[in-house]
Parts: sequence; structure tokens; C-alpha cells
Amino acid sequence: VRRKLVAGNWKMNGDRASLAELDGIAAAAAAHPGVDVAVAVPFTLIERAAERVPALAIGAQDVHEADKGAHTGCVSAAQVKEAGARFVIVGHSERRGDQGETSHDAWAKSAAAHRQGLDVILCCGETEAERDAGRAERIVQAQVEKSLPDDADGSWLTLAYEPRWAIGTGRTPTLDEISAIHAIARAKMRHMIGEKADGIRILYGGSVTGENAAAILAVENVDGALVGGASLTAAKFVPIIDGAA
Ligand code: 13P
Repeated sequence: VRRKLVAGNWKMNGDRASLAELDGIAAAAAAHPGVDVAVAVPFTLIERAAERVPALAIGAQDVHEADKGAHTGCVSAAQVKEAGARFVIVGHSERRGDQGETSHDAWAKSAAAHRQGLDVILCCGETEAERDAGRAERIVQAQVEKSLPDDADGSWLTLAYEPRWAIGTGRTPTLDEISAIHAIARAKMRHMIGEKADGIRILYGGSVTGENAAAILAVENVDGALVGGASLTAAKFVPIIDGAA
């Protein structure tokens, strides 16, 4: 049985003062030992966050696919691990959109993170135009096909379905639409890696709030949530953790 994971993604938000929010988030995590809780903070805050709340899984939002070398401005998996990160988000749609990252890049970054012993949250999801054209399912299948490492299993990898049009918009797919995509992603993973796929959690992300979390988390094949805006404060994030319990 897959434990629920509620993961926050602070994106390019937060400063040292924001780390105080992690205290309340860690308290909620401690109150719900059956739920895994994680927060991906900006690179600059990883070390302080990990030291402040050692019981909480702190992560990064990207890593380079190479172990080290001449890549100005980039950060390696070993570096975020040394800073205290336990996991990394790869293939987020904002990196696909802003930095032109591909599913192949997400595959290579997942492998780099895994080489260092980091857990990975691997993201996929269609654009609004793709959904309107009836292609959401095929897009997600193709992204999983190109980005899921052969040696993926639930001990280190989590998939996240985040429809781009639902991110930061207050709009979400219907529960049936979420269920359909998660089932297709699960089937695709099973086709690729067999029964190991059944141990891999699939998170939903995109405008998750304290109000809609419990209903979304109750959908079959939804094993948690990846939360942007509502993870920035304990006041908004804790109700989502409560909703997973
Ligand atoms: P919002 O929760 O702000 O819609 O962001 C979702 C997301 O992109 C998390 O990675």
C-alpha cells in the first residue's frame, strides 16, 4: 500500500524569514505519522531549512544531469545532497516552459539524482491547448515513456501529474479527469517496468488547496499532492496535510 505524500514546491519564493513557516509544517507532519511531508525550497535555503527542521524532507527544485563540471550557474545533485536535500523535483512544467527542458532532460536529471541517493519527484502534464485538442492522455503517456528511468521504483521515485493550465490558476480538472490520467500513467509505467510500477506514487498538482485536497486525495491512484502557492505558509499547507491523513 502506498503512503500518501504531500509535497510543497516553493518555486522562486521565500527568504530566511519564510523558514519559520516550516516549523508549523513540521509539527503537522509529526501529528500525522502516516503521511509523508516534503518541501522543495530554493537552492539558497536548502541548508538552513534542513538544519531547522531535520524531521522534514527538504528538497531541491532542479539539478543538473551531470555529476560536476563546467556548467556555469547550475547545481549538481551531490551539491544539493550535501546541503541537506533528500529529494529533487525534475521536469516541472515551469522548467519545460521557461528553460525548454524536455522529457529526455527529466530522465537524465532523475538518473543523476538517483546516482547520489536522492529521491525524485518526476513531473508530467499537458498544456491547455493539448487538453483542448483531446491529447492530454497521449501527451502524458509520451512524457512518462521518455522520462521514466528503467530502474525506477517506489523506493526513490514519485510521479507527479500537473496539468499546466491548472498551475497557479485556481482551476483544476474534474475528479474523473484526474482519475483517468492517473490510471493511464499507472498503466504506462506498468507496461514499462512491470509490477514495480504499483509501488510508485502518483501525485496530483495544480491549484490544490485546503478546500479541495481531501476530495482529490481520495481519488483512486492519487497518492498525494504537489502544492505550489498553498505550500508557502503553514496556515495554507497544514490543512492539505490534514486532508491526506
Ligand atoms: P499551484 O499549487 O500554485 O497551482 O502550483 C502547483 C505546482 O506547480 C507545484 O509544483
